[in-house]
Amino acid sequence: MRLIIMGPPGAGKGTQAKILTERYSIPQLSTGDILRSAIMDKTPMGLQAKEIMARGELVPDEVVCGIVSERLDGDDARDGFILDGFPRTIAQAQALDEMLEEKGISLDAVVVLQVDGEELIERIRTRAAESGGARADDNEEVLRKRLQVYGELTRPLIAYYEKQGNVKNVDGMASIEEVSAQIAGLLEK
Ligand code: ADP
Repeated sequence: MRLIIMGPPGAGKGTQAKILTERYSIPQLSTGDILRSAIMDKTPMGLQAKEIMARGELVPDEVVCGIVSERLDGDDARDGFILDGFPRTIAQAQALDEMLEEKGISLDAVVVLQVDGEELIERIRTRAAESGGARADDNEEVLRKRLQVYGELTRPLIAYYEKQGNVKNVDGMASIEEVSAQIAGLLEK
């Protein structure tokens, strides 16, 4: 199963991606997680990404496309994967299409989690409180920036993938279990 999971920040992509990794025995390729671990390890890429992420802006396309291209070549991704947090721009989606074409593979589905804006702010507040501020970008001002970036640069991808005919819309406001059941139902159709 080759999947993309999309949705605004705080929509529950990471949570659902983890459930899908178990259900289909596929790895979760999260560009956000990979960048955060590069920051922790103080690699050159991490140093470059740190301030950008703390502002809620996007890391350059070349950087994240490089990460994904490398991860897609990993042994664990041979039979499938779930992309979480990538692509985030049309340029990234086009680059991904090229990577997939080169490998002779295609996506099975693009799962889109639909959530309303105010609810998202509430969820991120809770996440920030629970994690004791572990994520530098989990505060309200930065979240608003991330939502704005999502609306301007990432939401247009839904139309991009609708043209390819593989979008599955899911109500992200439901409980974790209900969302995951909805996704399973749509993927098994
Ligand atoms: P969320 O989905 O909650 O916003 P992520 O972990 O997916 O969190 O991303 C956190 C940050 O990492 C983003 O705001 C951005 O700065 C950076 N990032 C992650 N993936 C990408 C990407 N594909 N392109 C550019 N920047 C990215």
